[in-house]
This record gives sequence, structure tokens and C-alpha cells, in this order.
Amino acid sequence: MASITLSDVRKVYPGGVEAVRGVSLDIADGEMVVLVGPSGCGKSTLLRMIAGLETISAGTVAIGGRVVNELEPAARDIAMVFQNYALYPHMSVRQNLAYGLKNRGTPAAEIARRIDAAAAILEIAPFLDRRPGQLSGGQRQRVAMGRAIVREPAAFLFDEPLSNLDAKLRVQMRVEIRRLQRSLATTSVYVTHDQLEAMTLADRLVVLNGGRIEQVGTPIELYEKP
Ligand code: ADP
Ligand code: ADP
Repeated sequence: MASITLSDVRKVYPGGVEAVRGVSLDIADGEMVVLVGPSGCGKSTLLRMIAGLETISAGTVAIGGRVVNELEPAARDIAMVFQNYALYPHMSVRQNLAYGLKNRGTPAAEIARRIDAAAAILEIAPFLDRRPGQLSGGQRQRVAMGRAIVREPAAFLFDEPLSNLDAKLRVQMRVEIRRLQRSLATTSVYVTHDQLEAMTLADRLVVLNGGRIEQVGTPIELYEKP
């Protein structure tokens, strides 16, 4: 678990688009912050800079008090959950969950322990020997969550993870993600354009507009005040 501190973070894409124009934000240990705002406001760029998938043009990103600007994604101690699941189709669920840990040299017994724990939390134990193609959308999304959980990262980064699911499943999964995030108490940054999802999930909402923070507050502060 770790705090995340953004200090005057900026992104100028090659070609000159100023996607993020000076964002400063302190995210506390265990807190879930949801980034919302209209399409093109810079949510995804900001998340990708925290993840290390996009270079930072100016400012600093610190995770657990350590500036990570120059670190590769793998060295940042974060796990990302995507809408497209990013599962390997030719591997079983168990192999998908184990893959990244194996590459890091995690001992087999520890891998098994983490997979069992994640499978229990996510209720995917019955599907561990299936391939992703043999799962429903909701089950695949749980496996994608499982891949993040088994890493036991300092922080989770969610990039619109539910946007490919049908409406009913989206509601169910957002409740599950909230429950999971609260019980693991892992610092999380969650990007969505869905206001209801944002309100359900957030400890704190950050509304972006034109690459800048427009508003920050709890769901109650932002939506229920007269
Ligand atoms: P959001 O996630 O809020 O929809 P993005 O972070 O994807 O916003 O995009 C912010 C701005 O940066 C938009 O104007 C978008 O067109 C631009 N942008 C995003 N990715 C790139 C890129 N790879 N190259 C150039 N411009 C980009
Ligand atoms: P895998 O992608 O199968 O987990 P690795 O763990 O070896 O394999 O990761 C390869 C690259 O992808 C590394 O840069 C790693 O940080 C990144 N990566 C893998 N899974 C995630 C994830 N859930 N969140 C963020 N980065 C990830």
C-alpha cells in the first residue's frame, strides 16, 4: 500500500497537444480516487503516466514517496486493470494468473497461495483450468482483476475496466470492485466516463476538464450539495 503524489504533472504529445496541463494531487494510502470528465479531458493520459505507459513531459509522479518518472512500468509496484482484459487466450486462467509472477521468479508455492487467495475472493476457483474463451464477460473481468491482485501491488490503476460489459453486469461488477478495493485497502486510481460508476466507487472524485482539475471532492460534496 502506498500514497500517490502528483506534482504539477504535464503531458504534451508530439505534435503539440497539451493533454494534461499541470495536475497536482495527493492520493492517500488505501484511498480510491476516480478520475472523471468528458472525453479528451486527459484522464487516460494521466493514468498512463502514473503507470509508466506514457512519458511525463513535466512535473513528478511519486508512489510511496519515491519519484517514479524514470522507472519502467514493471518497477513501479502498480497493477493495471484494462477493459480488454489483456488475458492470454491460449493459457488457462491459472496460467494467466501465474504468468507475471513466474517471470519475476516468485516461488511456485507462493504463486499457488496467491492464486488460491485471489480465486476465493473473486469466486473464480471453479474456472481455474478453463481458457478465457470459455468464460463469460464477467468471469473474464474477474480474472483480469485476479491478475492485478496476485501481484500484491502498492496500487491498482483501473482504465475503464467495465466499459465492455453489458449494463446489468456493469452494475454488479462495480459493486464487487468497490467491495474488493475496500477489503484489500489498496490505493487505487480509477478512470471512467460513467458518472454513476464514479459516484459508487470513489472515496474522492477528481473532475478533469481540458487537462486541468476542475473539481475535487467526495461524491456527497460534489453531487448532493444544494
Ligand atoms: P480521456 O481519457 O479523458 O478521454 P485522453 O487522455 O485520452 O483523454 O486524451 C487527452 C487529449 O490528448 C485528447 O485531446 C487526445 O486527443 C490527446 N491524445 C491522447 N493520446 C494521444 C496521442 N497518443 N497522441 C496525440 N494526442 C493524444
Ligand atoms: P504479464 O504482463 O503477463 O503479467 P509481466 O508481469 O512480466 O507479464 O509484465 C510484462 C510487462 O507488463 C511489465 O512491464 C509489467 O509491469 C507489465 N504488466 C503486466 N501486468 C500488468 C498489470 N496488471 N498492470 C500493470 N502492468 C502490468
